[in-house]
Amino acid sequence: MKKYNFNPGPSMLPREVIENTAKQILNFNGSGLSLMEVSHRSSDFQAVVDESEALIKELLDIPDGYSVLFLGGGASTQFMEIPANFLIKKAAYLNTGSWADKAEKEARHFGETVEIASSKEANYTYIPKEYSIPADADYLHITTNNTIYGTEFRKDLDSPIPLIADMSSDIMSRPVDVSKYDAIYAGAQKNLSMAGVTLVIVKNDKLGRVPRELPTMIDYRTHVKKGSMFNTPPVVPIYSLLETMRWVKKEGGAKEMDRRAHERANILYGEIDRNKLFHGTAKEEDRSLMNICFVMNDEYKDLEKPFLDFVSGRGIVGVKGHRSVGGFRASCYNAMTVEGVNFLVKAMKDFEAKY
Ligand SMILES: *Cc1c(COP(=O)(O)O)cnc(C)c1O
Repeated sequence: MKKYNFNPGPSMLPREVIENTAKQILNFNGSGLSLMEVSHRSSDFQAVVDESEALIKELLDIPDGYSVLFLGGGASTQFMEIPANFLIKKAAYLNTGSWADKAEKEARHFGETVEIASSKEANYTYIPKEYSIPADADYLHITTNNTIYGTEFRKDLDSPIPLIADMSSDIMSRPVDVSKYDAIYAGAQKNLSMAGVTLVIVKNDKLGRVPRELPTMIDYRTHVKKGSMFNTPPVVPIYSLLETMRWVKKEGGAKEMDRRAHERANILYGEIDRNKLFHGTAKEEDRSLMNICFVMNDEYKDLEKPFLDFVSGRGIVGVKGHRSVGGFRASCYNAMTVEGVNFLVKAMKDFEAKY
């Protein structure tokens, strides 16, 4: 049976990315060695890193003065590396979900944090708009898409102080004005690649300003200087990132990804709003185009499990909501097709017709 993968991360990748990566795992560039066996310092692999970096710069239109890094440790390690490299005295955090909350907790190891606003009291169903940003904070940290709760900024905030963003679950789904940020980071397993590599974009002239001694691996300057090759980088995840970026470029770039994201989300939210069984959980103006969260209306609550069984019987995978929200979550990253979304919508309609 054909599977429709709505997993929140690791998530669906374009089929050709998986196939091309599989080929290179068997025989890298015709060398007779697996991609898993070659030296990361070989010229063939250096070309992979160089092209990946160039494509990220091109697709996100990154201005001069920024470095693109491929690191290990996931976005969760960046929760710590960001304050280690940027927090001098005090940092501001906007609490829009549990990832944002975790990021702030890690920053407290390095100095004072100010939570400028939070939507925790409403189970993070909206993005706070009323807040003041302390002028004396070293940076403002935001999470542009809240993967668990299905809310998203979808635009680049104007901040009077340096802006830093966790874009793990919506990077490369729209054009970004990188010049507004001092740093952007993203675990790859939502929209860029398989798990194992973390993309970090940093503004070079903002590095090296903190007073603390930084361990070598934690200091971004180490990786800037060595072009992400200070130690062995995650070779296979970087290769699959390259394949994904080639795919994004071929399909029309970040602008086209944005158009498709709107198209998919309009179809799915349209059905959620129409269908008598369901309602969306996020405030309408903050709805994420990436993670579409919905629950069963109260009078149909006992149909949750039957609905999950019903869709899984049709090959629809990964639509169970996160335990902290319940219900359902359909994650629609770049690789998700309109056909896939229509297939889910059809299942929602057919299930509704039974009741
Ligand atoms: C998934 C996710 C993370 C955690 O990423 P890891 O790579 O598993 O550490 C952090 N932030 C956001 C917004 C996420 O969606």
